[in-house]
Amino acid sequence: MALRPPTATIRTQVELPLRFADGYATDALVFSFDGLVDGREHLAFALGDRAAARPAGRRRAVPLIRPHSECLTGDVFGSQRCDCGPQLREAVERIADAGGYLLYLRQEGRGIGLYSKLEAYALQDTGVDTYEANLALGHAEDERSYVAAAQMLHALRVSRVALLSNNPDKARQLRSCGVTVVAQVRTGVHVSAANVRYLETKVRRGEHTLDLSLPA
Ligand SMILES: [Zn+2]
Repeated sequence: MALRPPTATIRTQVELPLRFADGYATDALVFSFDGLVDGREHLAFALGDRAAARPAGRRRAVPLIRPHSECLTGDVFGSQRCDCGPQLREAVERIADAGGYLLYLRQEGRGIGLYSKLEAYALQDTGVDTYEANLALGHAEDERSYVAAAQMLHALRVSRVALLSNNPDKARQLRSCGVTVVAQVRTGVHVSAANVRYLETKVRRGEHTLDLSLPA
């Protein structure tokens, strides 16, 4: 049964022109919020036609949505231990093309935090996988919550979404918070020699639907 989470409201909206390291550029409208359940500073980036004022009398397509959990090492520094940087870059362009929102969620390292994530990496170097490492550190396998993401969508008056994700848990959690997921769109897979083991673990342990083959 869907339970609508507490109401959040838009705090600020401001234009943010984006340019990535590879030269790709697009205009975003970035939103902050009041009333998010976990008190963290999550952001919504409106992209494509959602970054512009709605044309009078015209209905827009169901927006493409991606909840992206912050990964400082991958998003900012290009760490090869995960695929977060390329996932983020791909998501921004696909959402800008389709029109929609990137929800940038400040839940680093599957929700366990940056320092704990680095400790989990150190454990993984001794041979345990990413989920086992979180358990060994006293955390759940995956502590990410998408309740705040649902609150942000409700605040943006978005009730129906196409979800850009390979992770069935995101769709489940959003639906349980009253968001209608009309379609789930798979993301590309960004395999490298350094992250293939991590991605295999995601498939095995997290029910992700990924096709893993290293480029020849
Ligand atoms: Zn990452």
